[in-house]
Amino acid sequence: MHDHDLLVVGSANADLVIGVERRPAAGETVLGSDLAVHPGGKGANQAVAAARLGARTALLARVGDDAHGRLLLESQRAAGVDTAGVLVGGAPTGVALITVDPSGDNSIVVSLGANARLSPDDVRAAADLLASARVVSVQLEIPLETVAAVAEAVGTAGGEAGPRLVLNPSPPAALPAEVLAACDPLVLNEHEARFLLGEDPAGREEAPEAWAAALLARGPRSVVVTLGAGGALVADRDRTVLVPSLPVEAVDTTGAGDAFTGALGWRLGVGDDLETAVRFAVRVGAAAVTRAGAQESFPTAEEVAAR
Ligand code: ATP
Repeated sequence: MHDHDLLVVGSANADLVIGVERRPAAGETVLGSDLAVHPGGKGANQAVAAARLGARTALLARVGDDAHGRLLLESQRAAGVDTAGVLVGGAPTGVALITVDPSGDNSIVVSLGANARLSPDDVRAAADLLASARVVSVQLEIPLETVAAVAEAVGTAGGEAGPRLVLNPSPPAALPAEVLAACDPLVLNEHEARFLLGEDPAGREEAPEAWAAALLARGPRSVVVTLGAGGALVADRDRTVLVPSLPVEAVDTTGAGDAFTGALGWRLGVGDDLETAVRFAVRVGAAAVTRAGAQESFPTAEEVAAR
């Protein structure tokens, strides 16, 4: 029985943002704007993106027993995400301390906090939640061994009828072969693709088709390379298709990748084939860049349909 179209396993952070005239040098204090606190983290963002579209979504994450943790739980619930799998305690909630100068350049310090304590045991204890989902989506803002436990759990839950794994290797890190082999698809942007390809000559080419082919050779069943305003490239063993984006006036691209991946996971969960799901996800990504912020910018299904 599948209760969830999508289960996101990943990070939840409070983004603390202060505008400054200029960023302080070592030993210096500068005055900044009022503090703005936004819910963020790739896992939390993807879950909100999918739920806002109407997906039956759950989140498996860890937050601290503190005000930031409560803010994150509230924002998930307000979007309609099932938060029964969100674990509380063990460390303070993850935080990104962000200063932004008038030119828009920012400096960010991340404290992983509770995200770093989401453990393989936490994943194993959530076996029923994993088995309840048609698609499980994971990113790399949690420990790599936890990501590996998710890939293993997805492989063993429900046999052929078990969930499908969507993995976004962000921030980029080398992935074990068994994790790569479980991805269907691996979803990544140009920067992440080049990182994973490392010394592979394909990574020095300018053609995303070459990256996708070289990445497929590492084992994932399918690959989706997001290309910003260029849309996304979909590749599996049989074919490679470029899905163009929509022409929009981009205001703020923060969270576009998370909106795209959350939408993609949902559409795969309700039975779309990969290309159809990507065609929908590029419309969601395009809508998300027309508004400022991350979670605040994610569209509803009605807004996507109106484009
Ligand atoms: P970010 O890190 O900013 O969240 P990303 O680098 O992970 O994003 P992108 O490839 O920039 O991912 O964007 C994801 C998707 O969002 C793209 O595939 C595209 O569909 C959409 N998108 C992003 N930027 C634009 C844009 N300027 N115009 C239209 N669509 C866009």
